[in-house]
Amino acid sequence: MEWIVPVVSTLVGLIIGSFLNVVIFRFSQKSMTVFKPARSICMSCKKPIPWYDNIPILSFALLKGRCRYCQARLSWRYPFVEALTAACFLINSLAFSFTGGSELLLKEVAFFPPFPLMLIGADVLVAALIVVFFTDLDTMLISDATTAFVIAGCALLYLDQGLRIDRGIFIVNLITAFIAFSLVYILRMLFKIFAKKDAMGMVDIVLISALALALGPMKINLAVFLSCFVGIIAAIFFQKKMQDKIPFGPFIAVGGYIAFIVGDAFLDLIGFMPYF
Ligand SMILES: [Zn+2]
Repeated sequence: MEWIVPVVSTLVGLIIGSFLNVVIFRFSQKSMTVFKPARSICMSCKKPIPWYDNIPILSFALLKGRCRYCQARLSWRYPFVEALTAACFLINSLAFSFTGGSELLLKEVAFFPPFPLMLIGADVLVAALIVVFFTDLDTMLISDATTAFVIAGCALLYLDQGLRIDRGIFIVNLITAFIAFSLVYILRMLFKIFAKKDAMGMVDIVLISALALALGPMKINLAVFLSCFVGIIAAIFFQKKMQDKIPFGPFIAVGGYIAFIVGDAFLDLIGFMPYF
């Protein structure tokens, strides 16, 4: 029965991924909201898309990436986001199993609470981070609702770790989040004074602080390091000039998620205790 959680997680990931496509796309359209219009329409011929053309990945493959009516090309991003969400949900289910949580930390810890709080938190977080990644890339904006979901996912992870691993995590991670917020806020102010421009938005600072709450003092450093690393690679790869405005959200999302998944194993490898 061990396969049930990963299989169900992957299928749920496909469905959530399909919904995230709607959220990401409609966020860049001024005339639309997540709930209006209720049905998805083809942006080319404006015809409503029937349910059987809305099956994650499968419909895109069967329609060969074109609208059934007007043959307009559909973006590759739709099946990509669906596959990405499903893959992340699968990884979450393997890394944070129903009874486990992070294998490394929880080998000798009694199971509590009797509920996959960590898996739900991880799925909420990764879904929100996928929206952060694409909407920030498209529009340089992250909606308040998306930020709220990142905070909710991180809060669930924080709660789960505090309840199950060590009550001390409640205090340590809260202080970490406070320090992270203060440090990045001061950095932003200094940058504004000396470089006369915004290095990052307040939303980015809130995102880093929320991740600090879930990741704790060691892994948040890894997350920030990875975010900068991915950012530099992307800047080289896409030849962005330094004067160009670069959204920071996508890099925080990637760095945060990698640190979240491999953080414990990495810290163990270099000889650090995951906590304290
Ligand atoms: Zn069409």
